[in-house]
Amino acid sequence: QMWDKGLVYQGYKVTPHCPRCGTSLSSHEVALGYEDNVEDPSVYIKFKIVLSSLVDSEVREQLNNLFASSDKPAYFLAWTTTPWTLPANTALAVDAEAEYAVVETDKEFLILASALLYAVGLGETKVVKKLSGKELVDLRYEPLINPHEFGIERQRFVTVRDEATGAEYIELQRQEPDKNLTYRVIATDFVSLEDGTGVVHEAPAYGEVDYEAGRKLGVDFVHTVDLQGNVIGTYPFAGKFVKDADPLVLEELERRGLLYRSEKIRHTYPFCWRCEAPLLYYAKQTWYIRTTAVKEYLISGNNEINWYPEHIKYGRFGDWLENNVDWAFSRERYWGTPLPIWRCESCDYLECVGSLADLKKKPEFSGFKEPLDLHRPFVDEMTFACPRCSGGKMKRVLEVIDCWFDSGAMPVAQVHYPFENDTLLEDGRFPADYICEAVDQTRGWFYSLHAISTLLFSRPCFLNVICLGHILDAKGEKMSKAKGNVIEPSTVIDKYGADALRWYFFTSSPPGNVRRFSADMVAEVPRRFFLTLWNVYSFFVNYANIDKFTPVAEGVLSHSELDRWIISELNQLIADVDAALESYDPTGAGRKIESFVDDLSNWYVRRSRRRFWKSENDADKLSAYTTLYQCLVTLSKLLAPFTP
Ligand SMILES: [Zn+2]
Ligand SMILES: [Zn+2]
Repeated sequence: QMWDKGLVYQGYKVTPHCPRCGTSLSSHEVALGYEDNVEDPSVYIKFKIVLSSLVDSEVREQLNNLFASSDKPAYFLAWTTTPWTLPANTALAVDAEAEYAVVETDKEFLILASALLYAVGLGETKVVKKLSGKELVDLRYEPLINPHEFGIERQRFVTVRDEATGAEYIELQRQEPDKNLTYRVIATDFVSLEDGTGVVHEAPAYGEVDYEAGRKLGVDFVHTVDLQGNVIGTYPFAGKFVKDADPLVLEELERRGLLYRSEKIRHTYPFCWRCEAPLLYYAKQTWYIRTTAVKEYLISGNNEINWYPEHIKYGRFGDWLENNVDWAFSRERYWGTPLPIWRCESCDYLECVGSLADLKKKPEFSGFKEPLDLHRPFVDEMTFACPRCSGGKMKRVLEVIDCWFDSGAMPVAQVHYPFENDTLLEDGRFPADYICEAVDQTRGWFYSLHAISTLLFSRPCFLNVICLGHILDAKGEKMSKAKGNVIEPSTVIDKYGADALRWYFFTSSPPGNVRRFSADMVAEVPRRFFLTLWNVYSFFVNYANIDKFTPVAEGVLSHSELDRWIISELNQLIADVDAALESYDPTGAGRKIESFVDDLSNWYVRRSRRRFWKSENDADKLSAYTTLYQCLVTLSKLLAPFTP
């Protein structure tokens, strides 16, 4: 259905990529492979300013006059440790608020951040002008190496408006070769004034923030390296692995007079934990769901959901929806739900197949084997004839679907909708009344559920949600295996019982709060609550057995003030617990029960003891038994949801 609505498309996503294994690594895999003290180039590169772009402000015109009155060329100075990314440069970034300096050497003018003049070794050089980063934005410069001269395709991020829906989205569009190509300076909020030059080299194909900034600001995009990490095109260093290409790229820039200085640096760099190849940040083709097209519905649907605690609704979750980006939902994995998209090997025609029945009806369908298994590798054997070109064969694309998509598809997938249970949306099973998970799921399960439901039905799939705060250690630090401060629930349960642990979590603080935890805190619970309740119960059972008490129907009117008082308290408790649970407040409910048990033990039983002890079985004694019995049975029912 999403495909039919035009909501599935192929785009790029920058991920840490192993050029030898040929796969992206997750953040925890990357964390496994950092190495310190790795030697890399540290180079300062000159980007030649296009003087004709120095217009539209007094400061720029002064600069233009300054450069024009001299025969020295003018450059932006930028720094990098990955020379192989320089041919893919398509923008320079500056900090609009920072101060920049124009320095004049005996050969040239250089522009860089004032704060970094000394660090770069230009502290003693003549500063001929100071200006704000704002003045540099949109100035143009010449590419270090024009990609078109070396057989490289250039694309650009362009904002497109869908006339039918009015939705706007950004796509990459191929650009015509241009001999006089120039790039521009952009302003971003990630320009460091701690290292480098304050002018940042941007290669959107090889950096996550570069990509995002490039996408937002409509810059150009070129790939100069393939997935094996080898340089493509017809560059003098084509075919080389990126790290081997580094010195050759620098040689080429030196020849062009664009290398200012070349040194070595020792720093921390990530390597593949499997094969030790250096990881490359690489913009890879990936499948997206255009969630931004339904952003309005994501937000209006959230208005209908009750969040506990309430601040999550327009805070953490609401912000996430307001800043919605399209969902990169394909993965280069083997295990997982295969993406049901087939591509023609000859003409690249794409088709999304919605069911096994549809697949079997395709022309020249083949590769199906019993028993049915729609996972890899079996599904990859299934092919059919291309409906667009003659002789083309449709093969499934290799990606599988992000498991978060599976989690979000739960409301429909668990009942095999729409193939079965086609009344799901009308018969009361959808939307769900209530779900519960921890606060980190605002970008995980809470979101995947909400997104898929909105994409399919334009409405939310859950009405109430308790969002749990995280549990920290006794000092308030996050539990982690590395720190060794993780408390295994089973050790606490073995020592104090599951109900004690449950009761502690329900009553110690509201579920949305972050909480400190140690096993000692649970130790209090049996003492404070369960033993009190148990003592009341055992008092009752002892005497009731001696007197052979048989419970009679509840609600016998007693003349004892004590009985009437505790029954009144009990009825109030029922109403309070009910109201608290109806409003998703287990803590309020649990605390009311605790205080009732305290009253029951310390007031009712203590004041009534003699009524149970006396030898004659009169109406007053029966009334006391009946009252206490009613309290204990009702308490059991009230406690059942908390301590089953
Ligand atoms: Zn690897
Ligand atoms: Zn075809």
